[in-house]
Parts: sequence; structure tokens; C-alpha cells
Amino acid sequence: LVKVESLHKSYGPNIQVLKGLDIEMKPGERVVVIGPSGGGKSTLLRVIMGLEKIDSGSITFGGKPYISSAGRDKKTIIDTEVRRSIGMVFQHYTLFPHLSVLQNLILAPCKVRGEKKEIAIKRAQALLERFGLAAKANSYPAQLSGGQKQRVAIARALMLDPKLMLFDEVTSALDPELVAEVEQVILQLAAQNMPMMIVTHDMWFARNIASRVIFCAGGAVVEDGPPEQVLGSPKEERTRDFIDRVF
Ligand code: ATP
Ligand code: MG
Repeated sequence: LVKVESLHKSYGPNIQVLKGLDIEMKPGERVVVIGPSGGGKSTLLRVIMGLEKIDSGSITFGGKPYISSAGRDKKTIIDTEVRRSIGMVFQHYTLFPHLSVLQNLILAPCKVRGEKKEIAIKRAQALLERFGLAAKANSYPAQLSGGQKQRVAIARALMLDPKLMLFDEVTSALDPELVAEVEQVILQLAAQNMPMMIVTHDMWFARNIASRVIFCAGGAVVEDGPPEQVLGSPKEERTRDFIDRVF
């Protein structure tokens, strides 16, 4: 589904974050990315979401060229059509505060895809129903709990029928009692075979959601394998150290 090849990404001349990263993700896989703070996990997801320029390397999506850097000035070229088929949810809620829940959900489908408002509203209501948020359709983000906001953010991303979902520490800013309701929504998506790439520090969630775990450090993939292996009995010493410390 996604093939990342020798991806290099730096911020300015001195901060090299990704140093030749390779990842190949098959359809239906749920990849959990773990690794030390500052190791480039968010950067990787932001690059895949088409939010960052790259220095070199390439990404294909469904076998088609998606992101590359070309020419003498190394311009980053992004296929915007492909980008629209990827959804992302961040650690901090990114809902539009001045719009109701329903308006947040239908904005992109109506604006980007030119979908009829009545149809978008029907789809939005069905999603809110499914996520236990039907009663909140006309509330504003400030009137919601953190867990509700994150569930709305996920629903909003799903409105564009993504072929891949990216989750960057979506429960890290939540009170502990709200974590489960958000993780359950993501597990529900997993049960429907939504391909996803997830950054999380939650061991329980990582074990339950992952079909594959990638340990990234120093801007490259250190270890990559099934969750039982990478989380349970890692081969690499750096992975073992990290898991002993963090989980
Ligand atoms: P964490 O687990 O703390 O979220 P991370 O693995 O997600 O860490 P990134 O956020 O990708 O790490 O950051 C990787 C490195 O890039 C860090 O050294 C960070 O300071 C730097 N960095 C990230 N974004 C920018 C930016 N916009 N400008 C400059 N440096 C940045
Ligand atoms: Mg991060």
C-alpha cells in the first residue's frame, strides 16, 4: 500500500531527522511505530500525510508515485489526489472551534469533493451514531470532553473515505479515563480492516492494534516485525532498552 524508500528529511541544515528510512506497508496492515522522543515518528507521519517537504527519497501509494524530490533544487512533488485519500489525527485536537460537530464533519466533503450538503449530513450523522456521538452533533468543540473531541476528529477524517489512516499519539493528551473510548473507536476501525499507521506509547493499545511494529531510532528503522516479537522479545539491544524503559 505504502512504500517509503530511503527517505531523508531535515529541518534546516543542522537537524537531520530521517536518514534513509525504508518502510513497506501492505494493504490491511496496521503498523505501530515506536521509538525515542525526537526520533522522527511525527515527522514520518507528517511526511506521509504530505505536510512536509523532503530532502530525498520517494513514497509510492498503491503502486503509484506519491511523493518524490526532483530536479536540481530538490523540489518536493506531491500528488494531491493521493494525499486526499489519507486521513490523519493528531495529539492535540484540530477541530475548528467556531463550527459545530456536524459542520466540522461536512466541511471538507462539501468543499473539497463538492458533495451535496444533505448527503454529507446523512453520512456524518451515521458516523456520529456509530461513535456514540449522535447527541453531540450540534455541540461546539469547547463543549466536548477530550475523548469526545478525538472521536469527532477521527469521524471527520473518515468523512473523506481515507484508504489509510495516520494516528499520532491521539490519546497522549487525554485524561486516563478517556483513553479507552478513543482506542475502542480505532480498534473498531481495525476490525473493518482499515489500514493504519499509529504512533503510541500505550503498550496495551500497541499490542492490541498492531499487526506489525516498527522501532525507529536515529532516523532509521532499527527493528520491524510482528508485535509479539518486537514488543515481546526484541532482537536488537536498542529496541530492548527502549521497551524496558518506556513500557
Ligand atoms: P515525540 O515522541 O517526542 O513525539 P517524535 O519521534 O515524534 O518525538 P519528531 O517530532 O518527529 O519526533 O521530531 C524529530 C526531531 O525534529 C526533533 O529533534 C525535533 O526537535 C525536530 N523538529 C520537529 N519539527 C520541527 C520543526 N518544525 N522545525 C525544526 N525542528 C523540528
Ligand atoms: Mg511525535
